[in-house]
Amino acid sequence: MPLTSVFQGTSLSALGGVLPFVFANMDVAVIAADSEQRIVMVNRKACEIFGYDEAELVGQKTRMLHADPDEATDFPSAGSIDTEADPGDETVVVHYRRKSGHAFDGETLISPIDSPEQEHLVFLTFIRDVTHRLVTEQTLSQLHAITTSRELNFDERVDAILRLGTEHFGLPIGIFSHIEGDTYTIVRAIDPDNALHPGMTFRFAETYCSQVFNVGDVRGFYHASKSDIRTHPCYINFQLEAYLGATIFVDGERYGTLNFSSPEPTSPFSNQDIELVRLFAQWVGHELARREDMQKLEQARLELEVLARTDSLTGLFNRRYMEERLNAELDRSRRYGNALAVALLDFDHFKAINDKHGHAAGDAALELFADTVRELTRTTDITARWGGEEFLMVLPETDLEGAQNFLERLADNLRAADFAPTGKPVELTMSIGLALAHSDDDRDTLVNRADEAMYRAKTGGRDRICLAVGDEVAG
Ligand code: GH3
Ligand code: MG
Ligand code: MG
Repeated sequence: MPLTSVFQGTSLSALGGVLPFVFANMDVAVIAADSEQRIVMVNRKACEIFGYDEAELVGQKTRMLHADPDEATDFPSAGSIDTEADPGDETVVVHYRRKSGHAFDGETLISPIDSPEQEHLVFLTFIRDVTHRLVTEQTLSQLHAITTSRELNFDERVDAILRLGTEHFGLPIGIFSHIEGDTYTIVRAIDPDNALHPGMTFRFAETYCSQVFNVGDVRGFYHASKSDIRTHPCYINFQLEAYLGATIFVDGERYGTLNFSSPEPTSPFSNQDIELVRLFAQWVGHELARREDMQKLEQARLELEVLARTDSLTGLFNRRYMEERLNAELDRSRRYGNALAVALLDFDHFKAINDKHGHAAGDAALELFADTVRELTRTTDITARWGGEEFLMVLPETDLEGAQNFLERLADNLRAADFAPTGKPVELTMSIGLALAHSDDDRDTLVNRADEAMYRAKTGGRDRICLAVGDEVAG
């Protein structure tokens, strides 16, 4: 039922006496106009939002209130209303102008009151200033566009949100801060003087954000020098008159703030402003949490990848990984015609070390070998634990002489190492088979030739390097 139907059938003179009382204290602007669009009554709120006295309005045409008087007839104003339609239920947003010249958007509902003869006696116009709501809706849709954009990275999105906030709140300085202990660090910032930069720090207690962060909520003030805030160190140091800030939470923990400020005082913040800055901060918090999760996942994935290719005792590569790498290295050496040496190294009498000194001593010997390898090899060399106490080394771009020199040095180092697992020194020696890759080698033929050479080193008396058959000439 239209609001005005209670008045239907009343006479114009009766209405004239009653209307001002009915609408006097309504929180909506009410303007009554006759069928000529001449204002016959305004309430207090109408005077307030248009900035006129009652006397300045009554008797005037309603078009004086429109931002563009030519547009006044384009929407259902008193003169243009379709008398056949059922008016009174639909609101439209109309662009109005205050006495000061400032335009604003008013949500408008027009309802006629009819005489007993069904003539429209009076048109009642109800107007609510929704400028702020519309601007907030616009800002929300921009926020949505920023947060869903695929083109922007996190920093760019934060910058865009800071820019959006400075425009929306009319506060030219926007900061995303991280707070730890008494240190307030700028993560991102925009300001007209370009004086604020990521990494800049301030004493937390001397920032307005201490007020926000310590309560974990939103705080704002629009005229510091006229409030208790004027004794705050931030006011004393920076003379910032207006401030609006919200706490950023990451996984329930306070992380920092998103805040906007200005050296100039502003008008009071609306509830929508408070909710908006809270929403900005929430998005930043969620995004930080999501990024942390992603980083942890990526870290876990990398750790798994390392684990999957590592031998747990020695930290060297495992056999599975070496098999893959050896294929790749063979391909590469074939493609570029580079030398490639492969050595199989097996501890001598390892069983005896275990038997005499215990299994832990055997383990320690394997670890000592790995440490020695890490000390002597180049980054391009690849070493894997091939079996129990047997290791495979792949030495890319290494010729026979280079490989022999290197392996001798390795064996010498190991033999000379101070290895005394149970007090008594134990000499560690290895039998080594060395093979050079041939163009027709695959992984198995190459490793088999190294294995055959290693077997000859064993049968030849151990603690020595033997070359695969045919490789002597290659050197
Ligand atoms: P050879 O000189 O002929 O190579 O004699 P060996 O004793 O070294 O060779 P054998 O194959 O008879 O014994 C190898 C031993 O290495 C047997 C096995 O228990 C031991 N072994 C293999 N893996 C590990 C390990 O991870 N830790 C320890 N402590 N011992 C291991
Ligand atoms: Mg052995
Ligand atoms: Mg062995």
